[in-house]
Amino acid sequence: MLQTLPADALSTELPKPILQLVGIRKTFGAFTAVENIDLDVREGEFLTIVGPSGSGKTTLLRMLAGMDTPSEGNITLHGKLINDVPPNKRPTCLVFQSLALFPHKSVGENIAFPLKVKGVDAAARKARALELMRIVRLPESYFDKNVMKCSGGERQRVALARALAYDPEVLFFDEPLSAIDYKLKKTLEKELKDLHRETGKTFIYITHSLEEAMVMSDRIGVMRAGRLVQVGTPEEIYGAPVDRFVCEFVGEVNTLKVKRAADGSWQGVDVPGTFTLAPPRSGAVLDEAFVVVRPEFMRILGPGESADNRLGGVVYNEYSLGSRIQYQVRVGAKVMLVELSRGRALPASLDRQVTLGWDAADAFTLES
Ligand code: ATP
Repeated sequence: MLQTLPADALSTELPKPILQLVGIRKTFGAFTAVENIDLDVREGEFLTIVGPSGSGKTTLLRMLAGMDTPSEGNITLHGKLINDVPPNKRPTCLVFQSLALFPHKSVGENIAFPLKVKGVDAAARKARALELMRIVRLPESYFDKNVMKCSGGERQRVALARALAYDPEVLFFDEPLSAIDYKLKKTLEKELKDLHRETGKTFIYITHSLEEAMVMSDRIGVMRAGRLVQVGTPEEIYGAPVDRFVCEFVGEVNTLKVKRAADGSWQGVDVPGTFTLAPPRSGAVLDEAFVVVRPEFMRILGPGESADNRLGGVVYNEYSLGSRIQYQVRVGAKVMLVELSRGRALPASLDRQVTLGWDAADAFTLES
């Protein structure tokens, strides 16, 4: 069974909102980049805005950081309107993808820069910079190292430590890990989440990678064409996507188009068969729908095994995913994906006739 949280599971004892967005819209000439966004960002949460390229993530973040003003709507911080407050007058700090470090300065000087601007004396600056270096896991010996002699990952840590030196209430991250290799990125994702815990600050992060968002975030907001289509915990986004866009954005899925027959039964459109569906979450009464089954909820039925829905197919290929194996099963012209743990792998799988099965409760019924 899919594990989904009840709608009110998070509604008790929520931290109060630090930032509130009401009816935010941003237009560039006749083009609307961000439309009708309402969002409460809770104090101390790690919120990630995710969406495909051009969906409006950066435009939204720029308004939150004060680098741009909304064309309509209000942004409040602790209840005070900040639409027109410039970035340097907000208790917020933006960590860029392009880092924006001072190239001729040392790691220590870069990190201590905000403290110097505030007039903190040299000894206290150094002590705080070293403390921040510990928090972002940079060795003390790097204090005097020229920042350009650091690796990409190390520079990312310097940028983070410098952002923390401003002691902002909210840190914004604009795809900071996009230019970093996969392995280091995986490490930094976890470190960022640890850093969030250690600092207790509000983190607002944007990325086009849902995988990154899933690992780090308390909540994820999914954007599409300028609109925030769903906001929820990683479990909610994964377990109860509001539509096909979110569902497919979250990962590989099997989708089957079905139509209601005169007798009320659901008939396959792209594969033959009668299917049992869970009612759509929206409660809508549908004549046509998409059934969405994630590969890990699709089963290969053994003799005598039952399931609400069955489909016969042939294994066309298999792909190793490490601890799991994904099978491509062809049902007529339709490609279906099934993922099994390595321990349950099919022997001699290629060209094997199989029966796929899934229970209605393990699938989503979405409007087409
Ligand atoms: P990416 O992941 O590629 O950075 P994004 O989701 O951050 O994309 P935005 O940069 O916010 O998307 O852009 C959203 C839309 O607004 C795009 O179609 C973009 O071309 C448009 N846009 C952004 N800034 C401007 C601008 N200053 N003038 C005109 N159009 C703009």
